[in-house]
Amino acid sequence: MSKATNIHWHDGDITRDERWGALGCKGCTLWFTGLSASGKSTIACALEQALVNRKVNCYRLDGDNVRHGLNNNLGFSADDRAENIRRIGEVAKLFADAGCVTLTSFISPYRADRDKARATHDAGKLAFYEIFVDTPIEVCEQRDPKGLYKKARAGQIKGFTGIDDPYEAPSKPELVLKPADYDVAEAVRRCVAFLEDKGVIKKA
Ligand code: ADP
Repeated sequence: MSKATNIHWHDGDITRDERWGALGCKGCTLWFTGLSASGKSTIACALEQALVNRKVNCYRLDGDNVRHGLNNNLGFSADDRAENIRRIGEVAKLFADAGCVTLTSFISPYRADRDKARATHDAGKLAFYEIFVDTPIEVCEQRDPKGLYKKARAGQIKGFTGIDDPYEAPSKPELVLKPADYDVAEAVRRCVAFLEDKGVIKKA
């Protein structure tokens, strides 16, 4: 809900089709969700490389990176997590509208927050694809690349997703990846095949 009054939407003079046609691209959002260390950022980075190799206009919004700037005034309380995801949803929507294949990698643990990000894309007639990076917590905890699970288990981080804060798995994700069962390259192949299937990118 906007705090401002007397604001009016101002349409531009060009249509989305004109913009995307001129750029030769189709915008959409691939929303990676999953536990910390499930592989969201690793897969999104590798996918970004694969897409750039194919000259696809894409951009990655990464959880930790966005918290360094746009969202540096937010913590990890439920309210702050909700606001974090709300802002990312809006930014992803703008990137998608601009014609980018937008990759977001955020734990985004609460279903309601992800559903809002989806709803804002739906309202803007932009495709939103939820990708569940479904890695068992035991595997995530064993990887623990940033030592966060160790800290959470020791009580040094409160409200850590999967330990003392819930992760609500997507009920109807468009794509499920199981990085514990195959390598990063295979996860990327599945994402690329998915994007080809959806007509977002041309078949190679
Ligand atoms: P997240 O972004 O979900 O927090 P990261 O991508 O930062 O997770 O960390 C995942 C870790 O797991 C990385 O250290 C990565 O190298 C490792 N890893 C091992 N196997 C895989 C795989 N198949 N897919 C993705 N990451 C993997």
